[in-house]
Amino acid sequence: MSVDIYKLIEKAKKISISNTCSKHTNFSVGAVLVTKDNQIFTGINIENDGIQSICAERVAFVKALSEGYKDFKFMIVMGKKKDNKLFRKIFPCGYCRQFISEYADKDFKIYTYSDTNKKIYEYKINELLPGNFKL
Ligand SMILES: [Zn+2]
Repeated sequence: MSVDIYKLIEKAKKISISNTCSKHTNFSVGAVLVTKDNQIFTGINIENDGIQSICAERVAFVKALSEGYKDFKFMIVMGKKKDNKLFRKIFPCGYCRQFISEYADKDFKIYTYSDTNKKIYEYKINELLPGNFKL
C-alpha cells in the first residue's frame, strides 16, 4: 500500500484549520506522520498561556509513540497565518529536530509544502540537524 502525498497535504491543511489551537500566534501548523506500515498520525500546534506550547510535529510523534508505533517513514508539515489563505513551507523548530532525530532514522524524510508555487520540499532529519545531542 502506498500513500498519496497530496492527500496527506490536504489532511494537514484541514486539521490545522479545523482544530486550530494557535490562540497566541494565529499561525496554524499541520503535520502528518506516516509509519513504515503506512499508519497515519496527525498533529497541530497546540498553544497555551504558559510556555508549554507544543508543536504539530511532536504532537504527531507522541500520538504515534504512545500507541506503540516506533518505525517512521516520513512526515509532512506546513503552516499558515490565520488571515492568509495560503500555506507555506516551514521547518521544524530546534526542539522538534532534536526530538525527531531521537525517534526516527537519520534518513527520515520531512516534507514541507508551499501553496504559492505548489511545490513540495524534501529534507532529511540529519540534514536539518547534523550532530544531534546524544547521551
Ligand atoms: Zn517544533
